[in-house]
Amino acid sequence: STVLLEAAGVRKAYGPTDALTAASLRVCAGEVVALMGPSGAGKSTLLHCLAGIVRPDDGTVRYQGEDLAVLTDRARSALRRTDFGFVFQFGQLVPELTCLENVALPLRLNGERGRASAKRAREMLAELGLADIAGRRPGEVSGGQGQRVAVARALVTSPRVVFADEPTGALDSLNGEQVMQLLTTVARERGTAVVLVTHEPRVAAYSDREVVVRDGRTRELEVIR
Ligand code: ADP
Ligand code: ADP
Repeated sequence: STVLLEAAGVRKAYGPTDALTAASLRVCAGEVVALMGPSGAGKSTLLHCLAGIVRPDDGTVRYQGEDLAVLTDRARSALRRTDFGFVFQFGQLVPELTCLENVALPLRLNGERGRASAKRAREMLAELGLADIAGRRPGEVSGGQGQRVAVARALVTSPRVVFADEPTGALDSLNGEQVMQLLTTVARERGTAVVLVTHEPRVAAYSDREVVVRDGRTRELEVIR
C-alpha cells in the first residue's frame, strides 16, 4: 500500500549527543507502527523528526512524497494542524477548558467556527464513549478519562497520522490497554496511521509492526504481525 511517511538516513545530534545516527522508517497509510527500544535510544527524536517538529541534521523525512525540509515553517505548522494529530504522555489538556472545549480546540485553531467545532467535538467524545464528561474540566476526570479525551482531541481533525509518544506512560495497565484499544480501533476504522513510541511490549502489541530503535538506529521489521 501507499507509503505516507518516510524517514531515510536521519541523523540528529543535540550538542555532543547523537540522538539519531541513521534512522530509516516507512509508514504506510492506515498502518499502526510501534517504535520500541530502551530509554534514550532516540525514539522520541525520530517521532519529532517524522512530525516535522525537529529538523534532522542529515537525511530526509518525506510526507506524501514531499520533503518536509523544503516547506516553510508556516507550511510545516499548517501541515501539523491539518494532517497530524498528537497524543503525549501527560500535560496536554488545557486545565481551564472543559473536555469538550479541549477537543474542539484543534478545530478552532484550524479556523472552524465555535458552533461547528463544538458539534464535531461532541460527536467525537460520544464516539469514544466520553459524552458524559464533556462538561468537566481535566482536573475533574480520572487519568484514564483524560487520556481518552486527549485521543479524541488528536482524532477530531481527521488526521492522516496520529503521533503518540508514550500515550500510556502515566496510566496503570488496565487504563493503558483501554486507551490503546480506543486509539487503534478508531484509527483502523478511519484508516489513520499511528506512530507510537513505547517501551512496553503490551502496548506495542496493539501495533501492526514493531520497529526497534537502539543507539540512534532503527532495526526495521524485527516483529511483524
Ligand atoms: P527515547 O525517546 O528513546 O528515550 P530520545 O529521542 O528522547 O530517546 O533521546 C535520545 C538522546 O537524545 C538521549 O541521549 C537524550 O538525552 C538526547 N536528547 C533528546 N532530546 C534532547 C534535547 N532537546 N536536548 C538535548 N538532548 C536531547
Ligand atoms: P537548530 O536550531 O539546531 O538548527 P532546530 O531543530 O531547533 O535545529 O530547528 C531550527 C529551525 O529548523 C527552525 O526554523 C525550525 O522551524 C526548522 N525546522 C523544524 N523542524 C523542521 C523540519 N522537520 N524540517 C526542516 N526544518 C525544520
